[in-house]
Formats: sequence, structure tokens, C-alpha cells
Amino acid sequence: MTTSERKFDSSLDSLKKERLRITEPRKALLRLLVGLAKPHSAEEIHESLGADAFDLVTIYRNLEAFEKAGIINRIHTESGKSLFELNAEQHHYHHIICRKCHRTEKLNTCEVLKLEKLASDLGYSEVTHVLELYGVCESCR
Ligand SMILES: [Zn+2]
Ligand SMILES: [Zn+2]
Repeated sequence: MTTSERKFDSSLDSLKKERLRITEPRKALLRLLVGLAKPHSAEEIHESLGADAFDLVTIYRNLEAFEKAGIINRIHTESGKSLFELNAEQHHYHHIICRKCHRTEKLNTCEVLKLEKLASDLGYSEVTHVLELYGVCESCR
């Protein structure tokens, strides 16, 4: 089994665990996400799937469902546009995004979990956070 097949299968398993139906659009979407080397916007994903195959609303809805299921990560860019990428390992991390070329790299740790713990200690439940870092990459400098 190749790495991408394994990622595809484990993402399908996560969908089943979250009791999401495995529909053709979802399978097509997952297959595409597994093959992406970098985060893409919903519009780019829509285009790659073939604009005629599924409408953009379907793509948005399914991306949201995948995000809730923890299968993909949503990255908030400074322009307000969201980018999406597969999170097959279901591991929590953040990104540094280049303001000029929009190159995105993983920062493989999260220090904010300590703050979440503080918030929980204050009696808050369902504490989550959104954090992305922005900068200018080496090649754009
Ligand atoms: Zn750059
Ligand atoms: Zn975090």
C-alpha cells in the first residue's frame, strides 16, 4: 500500500467514526486532498475536481464536515481566505505563512495548549484556538 492510499483509508475510517456518510463527492474530495502537496482554497479544490463535477456549495459543505471530523485543517490567511489541507495524522500543529508567495510550512508544535489548560482551569469548556503565524519567507526576502 502506498502512503497516499494509507492516508486515504485512514481518512475514510475517520469519516466512518464520525458517522459521516461516504458519498461520491466526499470520496472525490478526499482523494484530491490526499494528493495535495500544499494547502488549497475551496475555489482551487473546486477547480481541481473539475468545476462541472460538483458545485462550490457542495465543496464548502463537505470541507466543513471534514473539518469538524478532524480530517482536515483550516488555515486562516491574513486576507480572510481559508486554506485547507489533509490532517491524516490528526495531529495538532500550526503554520507559518509567507505574506508574499503564500508558501505555508508546518510548525510542528503548539504552545497554546498551555493557555487552553489555563482556560479550562477557569471553568471554561470546549476551549479551542485559532493561531497562524505570518512572515516573509527566505526566498521572498
Ligand atoms: Zn515567500
Ligand atoms: Zn495550537
